[in-house]
Amino acid sequence: MPGNPVSTRIVLASRPSGKPVVGNFRLEDEPLRDIAEGEVLLQILYLSLDPYMRGRMDEAKSYAKPVEIGGVMEGGTVARVLHSRNAAFNPGDIVLSHSGWQSHAVAHGSDLRKLDPDQAPVKTALGILGMPGFTAYAGLRNIGKPKAGETVVVAAASGAVGSAVGQIARIFGARAIGIAGGREKCDYVRDQLGFDAAIDHRSSNFAAELKAACPDGIDVYFENVGGHVWSAVFPLLNDFARIPVCGLIAHYNEDRSAPGAQDQLPAVMRAILRKSLTIRGFIQREFSDQRADFYREATAWIADGRLKYKEDIIEGLDNAPDAFIGLLDGQNFGKLIVRVAA
Ligand code: NAP
Repeated sequence: MPGNPVSTRIVLASRPSGKPVVGNFRLEDEPLRDIAEGEVLLQILYLSLDPYMRGRMDEAKSYAKPVEIGGVMEGGTVARVLHSRNAAFNPGDIVLSHSGWQSHAVAHGSDLRKLDPDQAPVKTALGILGMPGFTAYAGLRNIGKPKAGETVVVAAASGAVGSAVGQIARIFGARAIGIAGGREKCDYVRDQLGFDAAIDHRSSNFAAELKAACPDGIDVYFENVGGHVWSAVFPLLNDFARIPVCGLIAHYNEDRSAPGAQDQLPAVMRAILRKSLTIRGFIQREFSDQRADFYREATAWIADGRLKYKEDIIEGLDNAPDAFIGLLDGQNFGKLIVRVAA
């Protein structure tokens, strides 16, 4: 193998307290080791930035282990095979890998999925045809279960997961109400994605506007956010409403030991009982056996124009920390992806 490349990587320099800052990350160069039998050398082309990465920066164990201090930040990537010692991969192949925030990586072939650039733009494997799109599909199909004519509400509606939730809800025959931050995102959700209405959660009249958009109440609330959005949704929930709890991004930067975090709990518990609510958390990978169905259906919906998507592409790995911090604040517009190499 010709001289090993140096991988430029972004590591976790320190754990954030509250909102992450650029100083929590460090850029370093690390020479890569030789690849062993069964492994490939990858050049990362695209890195996905996702809200779950905030959880990996904390010490507390969640459903996955935290990133170690000094460890490469975790993340889904699309990469080109540069060198292979695995018969299933050839130099030039494009693959989906989980190589993290770095320019090059060594990976075992068993951890990779080959992508066909002729079937779909390869970066869609990080967004609409990847983990976020599947999350929308799996949460809605298995937990939300919207019926024709029902009202489905989703927040972060212009983002990777939320945009797919509302469009798939409409494909299932439901009314889709999106909640998004600011006029531009709301216009996009309603006019380009075809949601029945879009409400700005930054509006001073947000709760009343949401109520007016849901005259028959809410049957499915796909929870991506929590916080003040949940507070506005909560009184509008119908009996037997289903609430797939997918994410709580409004709380990711919170100090969990702060007082007051559970103030709403008694009211929520009473409503679960009184309204027979189903509130069910999930991590998309529990529905992995439905991935093939998802890929087939989503590909067809994209082809016939019923499932649209938007990507927010950031140039250069060194801009990843800033872009990630912005994601937690709503500065992205669409699925956030870093172009690491051309
Ligand atoms: P995204 O929507 O592309 O980006 C995040 C968006 O969240 C921001 O653009 C912003 O949109 C909104 N936001 C941030 N802070 C907010 C706040 N305080 N109040 C209201 N909205 C806020 O991200 P995504 O990848 O699609 O993820 C959406 C949610 O799904 C996240 O909670 C994520 O953790 C979760 N998720 C869960 C799974 C799972 O398996 N359970 C898998 C993937 C993602 P606005 O400007 O419109 O407010």
